[in-house]
Amino acid sequence: MPELPEVETTLRGISPHVLGQRIAEVIVRRFDLRQPIPSDLAEIEGLEITSVSRRSKYLLVQLSDGSHLLIHLGMSGSLRLTDTAEAWKKHDHVALTLGAGKQLRFHDPRRFGIFLHLKEKDPTQHPLLALLGPEPFDEAFSANYLMQAIQQRSAAIKNVIMDAKVVVGVGNIYASEALFRAGISPRRKANRLRLLDAERLASSIQEVLREAIDQGGTTLRDFLNSDGQPGYFKQRLFVYDRKGQPCRTCDETIRHCVIGQRSSYWCPRCQK
Ligand SMILES: [Zn+2]
Repeated sequence: MPELPEVETTLRGISPHVLGQRIAEVIVRRFDLRQPIPSDLAEIEGLEITSVSRRSKYLLVQLSDGSHLLIHLGMSGSLRLTDTAEAWKKHDHVALTLGAGKQLRFHDPRRFGIFLHLKEKDPTQHPLLALLGPEPFDEAFSANYLMQAIQQRSAAIKNVIMDAKVVVGVGNIYASEALFRAGISPRRKANRLRLLDAERLASSIQEVLREAIDQGGTTLRDFLNSDGQPGYFKQRLFVYDRKGQPCRTCDETIRHCVIGQRSSYWCPRCQK
C-alpha cells in the first residue's frame, strides 16, 4: 500500500511536470472507485494547475479557479506521466491531458483510491482531512505534543502512533521501525511513556520517514513511481518482517505478535 513516503515521492515526481499546465481534456474510463469519481469532472477542462501539495496520504491539486482535486492512492494506486499517445494500461481509470503531449494518468487495480473535485475554497475542512493530526515534519509534532496526545491512552503505543488523529503517515512498517530505533516495545502502554521516550519516538518517526522519502519510498507491490518505473528501493529494515532473524544490533531473535490486528515485530533486548 502506498504510504506517506510513496505519496511524497509521487508529489515530487509529478510536480515539475504538472505545475502551470492547463488541463486540456479529462478522460474517465471508470467512475466506481472507493468513492465515485464525480460525473461532472470534465468541468475542470481549461483550468490550470496552480499548486500540488500533500496532506497525510492525500494529494491536493489546486486549480486556477480555486478548487482542488483530492487524490488518494488507496491500496494499489499510482499516478504517472505518460505520452498522450501511449497505450492505456489495464486499470488506468482517469487521465488529464496536459500540454506538450503529456497525460497524468491515475492507475488503480483494486479501486480503493479516491479522485474527487472539491469546490470549497478551504480543502482542509473536507471531512476526509478535517480531523487529521499534525504532519510528522510539522513543528506542531514535538515531543511535548506527543506526550500530551498519548497521556490518556492505555492502548499499546504502536496502535496509538498509527492513529491519524495523533500524527499522520505512520503506517505499520514505519511504526515498527521507529519504535525499534527509539528502544520502545510496541506493546508498551502509551500512557507509561516518559518524556524522554516521547522525545526519542518523535525523532525516530521523523527519521524513518525522512530516510524513506530520501530514498524514493520502499518497494511495495503495485507501486509505480511517477515516471512509470517500479519502486526501486527497499529501506533497510531493522525489525519489520524479520521474525526469527537476528537483531542487527544485538543478535537477539526478532519477535512477532499481532497488535491491533497488525503484524508487529520487535527485539526484546533492544526495546523495553
Ligand atoms: Zn536487539
